[in-house]
Amino acid sequence: MGKAHFGLIGLGVMGENLVLNAERNGYSSVVFNRTKAKTDEFLAGRGAGKDIVGAATLEEFVATLERPRRILMMVKAGQPVDDTIAAISPFLEEGDLLIDGGNSLYADTERRVAELESKSFGYIGMGVSGGAKGALEGPSMMPGGTKAAYDAIEPLVRKMAAQVDDGPCVTYIGPGGAGHFVKTVHNGIEYGIEQILAEAYDLMKRVGGLNGDQMADVLASWNQTEELASFLVEITEVCLRTKDPETGADLVEAIVDAAGQKGTGLWTVVSALEMGVPVPTIYAALNARVLSSLRSERLEAGALLPEPAAHSFNLGSAADEMAPLRDACIAACIVSYGQGMALLQEASKLHDYNLNFSAIGQIWKGGCIIRARLLQRIQDAYGANPNLANLMLDPWFAEQINRRLPGLRQVVAGAALAGIPVPCLSSTLDYIDSYRSARLPQNLVQAMRDCFGSHTYERVDKPGNFHTEWLD
Ligand code: NAP
Repeated sequence: MGKAHFGLIGLGVMGENLVLNAERNGYSSVVFNRTKAKTDEFLAGRGAGKDIVGAATLEEFVATLERPRRILMMVKAGQPVDDTIAAISPFLEEGDLLIDGGNSLYADTERRVAELESKSFGYIGMGVSGGAKGALEGPSMMPGGTKAAYDAIEPLVRKMAAQVDDGPCVTYIGPGGAGHFVKTVHNGIEYGIEQILAEAYDLMKRVGGLNGDQMADVLASWNQTEELASFLVEITEVCLRTKDPETGADLVEAIVDAAGQKGTGLWTVVSALEMGVPVPTIYAALNARVLSSLRSERLEAGALLPEPAAHSFNLGSAADEMAPLRDACIAACIVSYGQGMALLQEASKLHDYNLNFSAIGQIWKGGCIIRARLLQRIQDAYGANPNLANLMLDPWFAEQINRRLPGLRQVVAGAALAGIPVPCLSSTLDYIDSYRSARLPQNLVQAMRDCFGSHTYERVDKPGNFHTEWLD
């Protein structure tokens, strides 16, 4: 074999599948993994008979690659990425390209792009979504860095990406850490939708008395609608239908109700708070995971703080797709995407990312975890108005929100009276009601701040800053 076209470092869940994807698309490859045994195992197993060779050292790995070298790192985010860059840099030459395909913090990518470009290497921070299957068959990819560096990998990533009607699910996102920022927000939206579906499940079970198969049937009907058809609804149906092989009962009921949260959900919320963008639906999803992990405290509190008296309310019937609940979920999913897009708008301004929101909608239509039919509408909305401040201001989405609000109100009110937590649905309702309010009660907050701290306030009837001696 001549020199390899493509190099992969990190034969974990993602790396293994991505290199098989590259090879299938005609890129002969060389792989390196910190633990050599994993390389040997891969080459003897899934990598056998393919145009893929292994390297025992990074020096050998680099020497095996054609120039300019295209190297994808799929290692754990954080220090391992810096360690890998430090270890390989001595062997790289001008024009070589390093791609970080892990879930790195975008600020780390900003720093690495600057450092590596100053040494005349190309550096791409690329968000990759789709899990193991997506990585193998075609993920959604969000590469950021210098445009010249992207141009050098474009033919490769366009072939590797998921393909939808209007092209591959990859595009140049923007400079610096833009690609990793967009992937972070993608994951934040994912947190929101997962929690919305978990709340719907809880209500169907506790209020509607549905079993796993009955709930799965409702999810299947939702998956036929333009508004909810998506990968996450599809896998929720599968999860609800799956039986425990040991007992034959619904497997989901045997799973401990404590969810972890990794970097990206937290980073979405922290960035939103720093940038002053309200993302309460996504924040509620993160909090719900954190609170769920306080399991022993919850058990103790349950004994001291009993549930309210039983309260049943109308969630709709399976025959009408549980219409109020379906509408509540549609409104909350739209808002989850909308909050993420609003955060991307602010980040684009702040960091000069010059993001193309319509193109982001396009590359999320296939391959990634939040792929959904609704993304065509999001692509269209930003295509019609690239400066759209909020998805709810687009005519199609405004009509949807108006149509779905009665269901959302009914479900949130019923859940409140029944004592069933619906943090994403209720945050969504508060968000919509706040966003559409011409007058909010923050005038009183301003009065209090001026009262105790002489912070001054503005008046509705004349310009200027005013102060009142409230306590005299
Ligand atoms: P994984 O299966 O846990 O594999 C981690 C890889 O990182 C292994 O090859 C490991 O090498 C290597 N590694 C860990 N610490 C290292 C260090 N200090 N120096 C060099 N190599 C080191 O990970 P994964 O799930 O494929 O994820 C890889 C990246 O993709 C992560 O950033 C992850 O967040 C991101 N990601 C994952 C998914 C997913 O669905 N799994 C989806 C999108 C993005 P050893 O074999 O030597 O331990």
